[in-house]
Amino acid sequence: AQRLSGNSAVVFTPHLMADQQERLQLEARLSQALDRGEFELFYQAQCDLHTGRLAGFEALLRWRAADGLVGPDRFIPVAEDSGLIVPIGRWVLLQACRQASAWHERARALGGPLPVMAINISPRQFQHPDFMTTVREVLKATSVDPRQIELEITEGAVMDHADATIAKMAELRELGLHLAIDDFGTGYSSLAYLKRFPIDRLKIDRSFVRDLGVDAQGAAIARAMIQLAHSLDMTVVAEGVEEEAQADCLRTWGCDLMQGYLYARPLPVGEATALLDAKLGA
Ligand code: C2E
Ligand code: CA
Ligand code: CA
Ligand code: CA
Repeated sequence: AQRLSGNSAVVFTPHLMADQQERLQLEARLSQALDRGEFELFYQAQCDLHTGRLAGFEALLRWRAADGLVGPDRFIPVAEDSGLIVPIGRWVLLQACRQASAWHERARALGGPLPVMAINISPRQFQHPDFMTTVREVLKATSVDPRQIELEITEGAVMDHADATIAKMAELRELGLHLAIDDFGTGYSSLAYLKRFPIDRLKIDRSFVRDLGVDAQGAAIARAMIQLAHSLDMTVVAEGVEEEAQADCLRTWGCDLMQGYLYARPLPVGEATALLDAKLGA
């Protein structure tokens, strides 16, 4: 395919046409999915690396389309581009806060600590003028304890519009919510910049966790990220931990939490609740 400027026509290859058609079809189906009740949240547990206890869950969106389960890597970018992420994201927030509230009751009954609910917020959703109103409405409607909720925002969303972002983050924290930077290390942020943002937690992207055992540089980077976060009074979650050796390294370096297939896969709500009961009851 070629992109030509000026008066020239844009030349589409058949391949690009097929891609765009597929994307449009996806967008059309996606726009109906909310009304049809086709979305579902899965929950992936996070584990405290030092106590071994279950610390909370990250809510991960799934789409049960007519032709099967579609993963978020396929539809979130389309939802983001089309703006559909705003209503979809509102649904995610409401659903995850409801679940957090239900798990709070359970944890209380079992005498366990408050399980954290981490919720992904897309850049477009975060920057939407109605975002704060939506958050307030959801907190009120679900009467969830805001300290239980952690909003995950990617570096890109944070670094653009820095001043407005900082103000919004401060407002979210005044409500009692926690904030995490997702996929840390994959963006272009300067580390010095980070200290300007009122962030509670860094999530180290799984590409760095994967490189832990590969070479000395991979290990040095992950270790430096943990030290950086701690020096800025943030806690650290390592993502995509699949092997015991990775967990051992991370624990030695003082990483606080881990998330990954080693501890638990993303689970449907029933299985996640059973996991919570088993871990807190133990
Ligand atoms: P993410 O926020 O970085 O979420 C972690 C992804 O890593 C999840 O993929 C999870 O299933 C996967 N994962 C967890 N542990 C392991 C592991 O040990 N090994 C490997 N290889 N993968 C692991 P998933 O569920 O497919 O989600 C992909 C992305 O879609 C998420 O990446 C997030 O950026 C986005 N996403 C998911 N749910 C939502 C949502 O509700 N709203 C928004 N805006 N984005 C979402
Ligand atoms: Ca995330
Ligand atoms: Ca991530
Ligand atoms: Ca990601």
